[in-house]
Amino acid sequence: ATPTAIMVGTGLGAKHGVLFKNGAALEQLAQLDTVVLDKTGTITQGQPQVTDVLTTGDRAEVLQLAASLEYYSDHPLASAVIEANDSQRQSVTDFTTLPGLGVTGTINGVTVALGNAKLMQQQTSGENALFAQAASLSTAGKTLIYVAQAGTVIGVLGVTDPIKTDSPAAIKRLQQLGLNVVMLTGDNRPTAEAIATQAGIQQVISDVLPAGKADAIKSLQQQGHKVAMVGDGINDAPALVQAEIGVAIGNGTDVAVDSADVILMNSDLSSLVTARQLSHKTMINIK
Ligand code: ADP
Ligand code: MG
Repeated sequence: ATPTAIMVGTGLGAKHGVLFKNGAALEQLAQLDTVVLDKTGTITQGQPQVTDVLTTGDRAEVLQLAASLEYYSDHPLASAVIEANDSQRQSVTDFTTLPGLGVTGTINGVTVALGNAKLMQQQTSGENALFAQAASLSTAGKTLIYVAQAGTVIGVLGVTDPIKTDSPAAIKRLQQLGLNVVMLTGDNRPTAEAIATQAGIQQVISDVLPAGKADAIKSLQQQGHKVAMVGDGINDAPALVQAEIGVAIGNGTDVAVDSADVILMNSDLSSLVTARQLSHKTMINIK
């Protein structure tokens, strides 16, 4: 495109809350065939809340142990757990973050582990009666946080994070424009699929460790796709860089915003439709 066309397109973008960091991003966006969307904070509102506490023991104690650990975590799920707890925190030693899995620490001389099913496979032994109950929460689209004490699961928290109201319409529009829309998440399969169904997405890549998100983009590229990746988290930054175009949600983490070529200031996916249309118009005007 001519410098003038790019200036006009970039200016129109800014007016509509879409910041193109460079002219190349504006030119390239219309040529991509695949949009990969992070789940949490991109398709969903990113304000998780604990709605369920499954336990065979004391509900308050499960929340207390969980919140005591999450106090040291900066994961988006941590604030939901801290908010749900009404008791005084216990002191924690040996706090450890296991990216994409959860957190562990020692409370009253005993190891407490908090996180997903993969973490429980590492930290606990055997089946647990709570697992069957938990399954119905994940098929309802809730994220599960398992709580284990001394190698035994003592509770499961169900966390809900509703999709943004405009996500389904925006995703439908992207599909109508001929784009493959893919969801990419570290969350487990049933939860991811439930959210994907609500959002109108057929292709889901779930259970991805933070370090694996960029690899997932690479493998789509090796299949011949040209990819825009949209994300908000620290986890998403390498994938934003790997993609042909990285798109950050405006209220996402600084690392995501810094790693992206395009920033959606309104923090909704409708702005991505606007961005794509602006790119298309810019490229048509030069012909
Ligand atoms: P996402 O791609 O959805 O942002 P992450 O890769 O950050 O997810 O985490 C994947 C999963 O690991 C979460 O859905 C959760 O089950 C578990 N997990 C990670 N960190 C924590 C934490 N601090 N507390 C509880 N669960 C966690
Ligand atoms: Mg996210």
